[in-house]
Amino acid sequence: MLEIDSLTMRYPTGDLALDSVSLSVERGQVIALIGPSGAGKSTLIRCVNRLVEPTFGSIRLNGQDIVAMGRTDLRRARRKMGMIFQEYALVERLSVMENVLSGQLGNVGFWRSYLRRYPQPAVDEAFRLLGRVGLDHMVDKRADALSGGQRQRVGIARALIQNPEILLVDEPTASLDPKTSRQIMRLIIELCRERGLGAIINIHDVPLAMMFVERIVGLRAGVIVYDGPPKGLTDDR
Ligand code: ADP
Ligand code: ADP
Repeated sequence: MLEIDSLTMRYPTGDLALDSVSLSVERGQVIALIGPSGAGKSTLIRCVNRLVEPTFGSIRLNGQDIVAMGRTDLRRARRKMGMIFQEYALVERLSVMENVLSGQLGNVGFWRSYLRRYPQPAVDEAFRLLGRVGLDHMVDKRADALSGGQRQRVGIARALIQNPEILLVDEPTASLDPKTSRQIMRLIIELCRERGLGAIINIHDVPLAMMFVERIVGLRAGVIVYDGPPKGLTDDR
């Protein structure tokens, strides 16, 4: 479903963050991208949803090259990619419900102040998703009143409400304690399975990746140095 070919990214500063990376992700397949800080993990995710323009290479989603897309196609392609971030990127003064709705409606303030209400099907779906991530008892809480684990659950529901085909997940547990990290990883993996979603999960916590993900891709200095099951990983990676 996602085919990355010879992806190369040199930042204007001269840093070569990705050096001809090729990688395929099948429909419904979850991969963990591991590697030390600076290996190029977040650059790879930023290239896939084109937050940065790669220097060279192609990224095909269902056969269409994201790198070569115009604005309209890119907007459509991005709807198929659910983003989950380390720092959650919630709107602090909005409620849990509104943060989730923003994944579907974009600027929820527009709906609230201009149209006076949110569309009922979107609200129903948000409520359902919040139930699935275990937060349906706090839909009206403001985002800034939540714990880290709860914030990430909101981030997950927000990514899912757009009904993506693939999740791009950048260090989802880096700000969480070990127990919460395991809960969040388990939730992401379960949801991928239930919905047949592919995912690229950037995670520097190797034991956590090995615990939950069947395919590990190791990146070092912009090059893939491992691609296989957890059991093949050795300590020198
Ligand atoms: P990570 O947690 O993935 O290692 P960092 O904390 O190193 O990321 O980087 C945080 C932010 O700083 C990112 O938005 C990244 O784009 C930016 N950044 C990282 N390295 C550089 C650099 N050499 N020059 C400019 N910006 C950088
Ligand atoms: P990781 O996510 O594995 O920590 P990154 O993708 O953040 O790695 O960084 C890979 C390399 O690209 C690093 O050398 C980093 O300094 C560089 N880099 C990242 N973001 C930027 C940026 N915005 N400008 C310049 N260099 C960057």
